[in-house]
Amino acid sequence: MTDIILARGDAYRCFYCHYEFKNVEECWLEHLNDDRTDNNPDNLVFTCRKCNSKKQHDESMKVQAREKLRVNQLMNYVRDWKELQKLQTHSTEQIDINESNCNTTVQWLEERLPLGTSNTVLLKEAVDTITFECKDKTGHGSQQSIRNYIDYLTSSAPKAPFEIFKGEDGKRYIRRKQHDN
Ligand SMILES: [Zn+2]
Repeated sequence: MTDIILARGDAYRCFYCHYEFKNVEECWLEHLNDDRTDNNPDNLVFTCRKCNSKKQHDESMKVQAREKLRVNQLMNYVRDWKELQKLQTHSTEQIDINESNCNTTVQWLEERLPLGTSNTVLLKEAVDTITFECKDKTGHGSQQSIRNYIDYLTSSAPKAPFEIFKGEDGKRYIRRKQHDN
């Protein structure tokens, strides 16, 4: 289970206070939705013992937990996209780049369009900035591939978290899907 959580990109630290574990005894697995029978990896994070017991009575930690669970589930949704990419390419290097660029796109949008806000970003600004960040990280990233990721994340599928809309200035923006709130 630890391997699955690390593979997801979680650090070997307490999810809440970021304490870096010195040994395996310090690392607890916590159920994000407080359901101890739900052992789906999406529902599990590393915590220190202190935060693990504190969370039971801490509303802001519970909010953090719900948000993390949602992002984990979103990553799962994005995994379908990655599987598709794997079928379309034969180079393992290319797969790594696609994974990294796809994660960068998700994280960029998640940061700027937090759940429960009505934040918007210009589509063009998103494509330009994410393309730049991807090139910076992996040395690769075309505007077209970033557009493909954004199209996927803003599709009409119920699980797609964002949508594109036309602003009063005629420009296209991205926001969180209205019914998602
Ligand atoms: Zn902690």
